[in-house]
Amino acid sequence: MDSIYKELVNLPGAPSFEKPVRDYMRKHLKQTTEEILEDRLGSIFGVINKGSTGPKVMLAGHMDEVGAIVTSIKDNGLIKISNLGGVKGNVYLSQHFDIYTDDGEKIPAISASKPPHLSRGDIAKPKELKFTDLLLDIGADDKKHAEQLGVKIGQQVISRNDYTVSKDGKKFFSKAWDDRFGCGISLEVARDIKKENLNCELYTGATVQEEVGLRGAKTAAGLIKPDLFIAVDCSPCADVFDGDESSGSIGDGFLLRFFDPSAIMHQGMKKHIIDLAKKHNIKFQYYRSKGGTDAARIQLENGGTLVATIGMPARYIHSTTSMISEDDYKEVKKIVFALIKSIDNDTIKTIKENV
Ligand SMILES: [Zn+2]
Repeated sequence: MDSIYKELVNLPGAPSFEKPVRDYMRKHLKQTTEEILEDRLGSIFGVINKGSTGPKVMLAGHMDEVGAIVTSIKDNGLIKISNLGGVKGNVYLSQHFDIYTDDGEKIPAISASKPPHLSRGDIAKPKELKFTDLLLDIGADDKKHAEQLGVKIGQQVISRNDYTVSKDGKKFFSKAWDDRFGCGISLEVARDIKKENLNCELYTGATVQEEVGLRGAKTAAGLIKPDLFIAVDCSPCADVFDGDESSGSIGDGFLLRFFDPSAIMHQGMKKHIIDLAKKHNIKFQYYRSKGGTDAARIQLENGGTLVATIGMPARYIHSTTSMISEDDYKEVKKIVFALIKSIDNDTIKTIKENV
């Protein structure tokens, strides 16, 4: 994979703490686009082919990753946290984390779990561990010591699972594929798409606070007012669980997200993407999701907006780590480039007529 992905996924960025990711995006977009646009919540986009008489196309990943926030420090120096985004307490047990201080310094932490030696004889065991029952241990002797080491209420907590390549060299593990992957695609588009191949005004970048209710998508779309919004986001595959033919498998191509609880894919858009994939020989799979993406929010903006989600198959997202495959990365890239290049005023008109 391109080296930008390794750099992107190793950055910390819980919802509302996206600054390091935004700085990285800005640095790259400045080199490759004509103008930088940032909204007041922190989403960032670079503009290519500005002033085009064609439609406005907005492409985005989201910069935030699921994480946690420090809510209190107990007298014994252990730290209580609350989740930021949809992650369950159980997956936070027995893990390594970093608490980030205000100046970006890392404080290593582990989540406290009771060893079996100490729990023999326990009768009632909770089925699901609540976030409020979790404790982080940084090795502080007491509350004062934890504060001296730099811990404060309101700091972000990020799991420590840096970029790792599988033994076969084709799968990649990280805490933050969801959705630094989409951020990386936006940067690759900014770098590699040729302006002369565009018949649209392209806004490529990333949103904030997707994981806590698609917030950045709303504000960014209000600013850009796109004719078409394309979300590139990782979606959870059930291939190693009890999946079926529309619950996704890694290695089988990009996910055509025809249905999720907050967005049914526009029928004209679906036809257009399938035609494109067939024309260019791009591998895809039909995918239904139980979650939503930024596209769900933007379809409701500005009197209704055409949207599409290009799904990247991923395993284990919304936990402390996840996995993607290089084969899917190639297919996602192909369809995103083909889709952007296919858009002009006539295509938008045809897509709309095919509702
Ligand atoms: Zn996501």
